[in-house]
Amino acid sequence: MKFSEVIGQTDVKSRLIQSAKDGRVSHAQMFLGPSGSGKLALALAYAQFLNCTGRLGDDSCGVCPSCVKSARLIHPDIHFVYPTTTTKKVKKDPESKLFAEEWRQFVREGKAYVGLNQWYDFLGVENKQGTIFARDAAEVIRKLSFKAYEGKYKIIIFWMVEKLHISAANKLLKLLEEPPENTLFILIAEESDQILTTVKSRTFQVKVPRIADEALLAAMADYYQLRTADLKHIAMMAHGDWLEALRLYENAEDEKFHFHQYQQWMRLCFKGNVPELIDFCAMIAGIGREKQKSFLAYGLQLFRNSILNNHHLQSLVRLPGEELEFTSKFSPFVNSGNMLQMAELMEEGIRQIERNAHPQILFMDTSLKMIKLLRIKP
Ligand SMILES: [Zn+2]
Repeated sequence: MKFSEVIGQTDVKSRLIQSAKDGRVSHAQMFLGPSGSGKLALALAYAQFLNCTGRLGDDSCGVCPSCVKSARLIHPDIHFVYPTTTTKKVKKDPESKLFAEEWRQFVREGKAYVGLNQWYDFLGVENKQGTIFARDAAEVIRKLSFKAYEGKYKIIIFWMVEKLHISAANKLLKLLEEPPENTLFILIAEESDQILTTVKSRTFQVKVPRIADEALLAAMADYYQLRTADLKHIAMMAHGDWLEALRLYENAEDEKFHFHQYQQWMRLCFKGNVPELIDFCAMIAGIGREKQKSFLAYGLQLFRNSILNNHHLQSLVRLPGEELEFTSKFSPFVNSGNMLQMAELMEEGIRQIERNAHPQILFMDTSLKMIKLLRIKP
């Protein structure tokens, strides 16, 4: 990863670059900052820059053999330590080196913007907590007993040192204090108060702030190939957290999907068009249970908004233009004679999906009930 690929963080980058150029690299540094700010990305860019053999001014070249290996996370002098736990594959004594392949894939897919919960999801262990074990520390000590193979620096990147077990920390304290020559420890963390003080006191702190709004917005526009004007709202809400920006964008896309499909569904129910409803239900059956649930929850929200609209409480209905227009057209069909049943129908649908009902049958059944409800006059 080159520094130019790290989102924003101009101040941190220039300080790291300057320290490398001046040869004043502190041997144990802690990159401390909030989720989604790019700590791992900065660490990877720094490691690549330190070992690049063809630096171009303020960035690594990206093409020398050292850069190519760094970018692929297979540089023999850049090592990674991260929290692990038992999984289907590793049934006992987990440690970082047993998950090297998964780690590389995970970091590459996220372009180095990754979070701890995502890592647990990736490993398929949602309900367990990972740890950096004493075994990991022993492996670091073993690796450091060899000379650097190719690079100028031997670099160990510890990801999420909040998870460093005290027994692992105790093994590492001496190394953090007096590391072998040309060795650099980069410790990455988010919660300062969860880090062992013995470790904290032995590292030089590099504070990584939230990504600046303008930098985040520009990165989003580039990533999604959209105009900045269309993303401004999301970029502001993400508050300098790249992972949150991606999550908000994907959710907004789901909302759009729900709106268009819901509009279509209600039109078909209103017309009582059974052949097309069959096709519609087959399509909804294919989107997966979680999406089906949020689709029905969206419907529930729509009925609530219609009721507010009917009671001339439009100011409480906060919707973008297209949705507001649909709600005002739809709301006359929601009345005191059917609104409770409509809401109940959506709630029952959600419960049935949770109980693994056959989705196509469930949605067809719901559609037929909805056709009847829409015909009830107040
Ligand atoms: Zn290079």
